Amino acid sequence: MKIPFSPPYIDEQIKKEVMDSLDSGWITTGPKVKELEYQIEEFTKVQRVLCVNSWTSAAILMLKWFGLKQGDEVIIPSYTYSATALSVIHAGGTPVMVDVNDDFNISATNIEKAITKNTKAIIPVDIAGWPCDYDAINNLVQEKSKIFNAENEIQSRLGRILVISDAAHSLGAEYKGKSSGKLTDVTIFSLHAVKNITTAEGGAICLNLPQPFNNDELYSQLRCYSLNGQTKDAFTKSKAGAWRYDIIYPGLKINMPDVLAAIGLGQLRVYGNHILPKRKEIFEFYSNYFKNKDWSILPPFKSGGTISSCHLYALRVNGISESQRDLIIEEISKTGVAVNVHFQPLPLLSLFKNLGYDISSFPNAFEQYKNEISLPIYPQLNEKELEYVCNSVSEAVQKVIELQPSI
Ligand SMILES: *Cc1c(COP(=O)(O)O)cnc(C)c1O
Repeated sequence: MKIPFSPPYIDEQIKKEVMDSLDSGWITTGPKVKELEYQIEEFTKVQRVLCVNSWTSAAILMLKWFGLKQGDEVIIPSYTYSATALSVIHAGGTPVMVDVNDDFNISATNIEKAITKNTKAIIPVDIAGWPCDYDAINNLVQEKSKIFNAENEIQSRLGRILVISDAAHSLGAEYKGKSSGKLTDVTIFSLHAVKNITTAEGGAICLNLPQPFNNDELYSQLRCYSLNGQTKDAFTKSKAGAWRYDIIYPGLKINMPDVLAAIGLGQLRVYGNHILPKRKEIFEFYSNYFKNKDWSILPPFKSGGTISSCHLYALRVNGISESQRDLIIEEISKTGVAVNVHFQPLPLLSLFKNLGYDISSFPNAFEQYKNEISLPIYPQLNEKELEYVCNSVSEAVQKVIELQPSI
């Protein structure tokens, strides 16, 4: 049996939505993007959502909007995808990495220790779709407002560190009964091909800034900034007699095309009643199976009003080394099941190593990584396939543990 890791979910309705855009004569930013933004607002109950062409460019946009400059620090977890750190570097700041908790997510205690007068933002990451401890993080930035050094008008208005949630995995998750998107000042979803909802490539920015910010005004301003700082988008400009425009910011060119928004629109229609419930079902199927294994450490799913969006099933194998984990993955691959590792802590990657980040400063990130295996989780999987994955994984673990019991 061949089981891919994360194929996109494409049904007839989604194809129809894409064809509709192609047939309409308008394929770049226009009515489909507007509709997708509206649908995400409805789904998350967020006031304003702006769609752009990736999570990464969305994060760069928001950090630039906040006026990040050289020497400014942005706190991120060491355990995440590289884009979290790269967005800070591209916006001109310095990523300050901190270690994570046993649930893979950034530790609020470690954030507190890392805050300095140069800290301008924090980017917590909801690893696997499990929300971070946002009460602790939001309280922390309030408490630390006294040492916040506002250096422009926007920073003075906020009067504290900005919290941008990296919710690349967590569309559809809830934290204490509130949906992901509403939990921090700014939340960014990724709509990349492997994420819970996709537009092939894309990102969605949820604007949730406190008073005196006006999220509607901010939306208009950012939308303009995402399209070269041009006062009219191409769609508006294409109407008869509406040719004149102005350039008012040194904008980026990161707008989302309609033909891609169409894929997301089609998916979102079945997200709440099919894709997301199916992911939760599979998550529970795995947990029910693996809880009986004495070597398993199960990923977090649900607790007191907080529930995962089940983006990844991050299984851990207790007591094994990194090389044993790699051998297990080799064994699983032989059976045709594609698995993955999420994530290699950033200090293990050349770029960050060369910038001076050292894995020995992040022991818990390494602990989480060295025995982690991500299993396939998506709505197309049937029960036979899930049983096959479970058997394949547990046989591989058994084989490797018996081979090298003491490593
Ligand atoms: C996928 C991912 C990103 C980047 O998303 P893009 O839309 O590809 O830019 C950022 N952070 C995390 C945790 C991710 O998994």
